[in-house]
Amino acid sequence: MICLGIESTAHTFGAGIINDKGKILANVKDSYTTEKGGIQPTEAKNHHIKVADQVIYDAFDFAGISLEDVDLISFSQGPGLAPCLIVGMEKAKELAKKIKKPIIGINHCIAHLEIGRALTECKNPVLLYASGANTQIIAYDGGKYRIFGETLDNGVGNFLDGFARFLGLGFPGGPKIYELALKSKNYIELPYVVKGMDVSFSGIQTNLKQKVDSGKFKVEDLSYSCQETVFAMLVEVAERAMAHCEKDELLLGGGVACNLRLQEMCKKMCEERNAKCFIPPNGVMVDNGLMIAWEGIIEYKSRGGDNLNNIDIKPYERTDDVKVTWR
Ligand code: AMP
Ligand code: MG
Repeated sequence: MICLGIESTAHTFGAGIINDKGKILANVKDSYTTEKGGIQPTEAKNHHIKVADQVIYDAFDFAGISLEDVDLISFSQGPGLAPCLIVGMEKAKELAKKIKKPIIGINHCIAHLEIGRALTECKNPVLLYASGANTQIIAYDGGKYRIFGETLDNGVGNFLDGFARFLGLGFPGGPKIYELALKSKNYIELPYVVKGMDVSFSGIQTNLKQKVDSGKFKVEDLSYSCQETVFAMLVEVAERAMAHCEKDELLLGGGVACNLRLQEMCKKMCEERNAKCFIPPNGVMVDNGLMIAWEGIIEYKSRGGDNLNNIDIKPYERTDDVKVTWR
């Protein structure tokens, strides 16, 4: 069985192709970026409309197969930006109709976890999902993927992008903050905001902006301190979730998890508690179609497809809204 998965929750339009043995056939994407300023939903939507056919064409070209070889089409149903989600869903519907094959809608956050399980040795991990719009600590417990902790406001990626934007850097800002942070070891105290199992970034954002405006601090020092602070918050909450669930595996996901400093901190925490840290390839930690294709296959095998005529996007779907039928 071969599945084409389409991703379009936010800035990335992706197409992935995988078979039910887990053989990766293609994972192609095109992401909306800016020189200055943040992600604008309408512009991201227009970007997706513009690149969709080419990305899908490139995926088939890379895989060396054609649309007619596909047995199933999956797409990111949510959570995400509605205008962007609609582009992916409409493309999935169009293709499913064309080849008269089943369609299935997928929860984006759960797809991050399942592709990590498929491509690493981990079995039953706590997922630290640190992406642009989402920041969640997720683990399987009592028949569902439950959220043990999450951001109360921005995703950590959006937070980093916001700080970068304020410094006049473009989108995505995370990698630019990382480069600046490498040039400093001078820690400047920032608010550290962990509330129970949740984290919050807006106060830190305001504090950072005030520090930039004051002109008293070097941007390298602020970037370094920003990373050290917010990553420590994420690692603290992930560690407590692992202790609470008695799990000894940590899996990373989301674009911010590509950050080598965050990876280093996660590995150290795991080492200290005799746990293992699993880091999938960057290509499936950032938003991608491959994870949507894989989740399509495992869900389809357990619950069948969705009805093409009344399927819709689910912009606000939560990880724990999904009935897990496949484990
Ligand atoms: P995603 O939404 O999962 O595709 O991730 C996108 C987010 O990841 C954006 O906010 C980027 O700024 C961030 N990001 C990507 N690479 C890195 C990196 N090396 N360090 C920090 N953030 C990153
Ligand atoms: Mg994501």
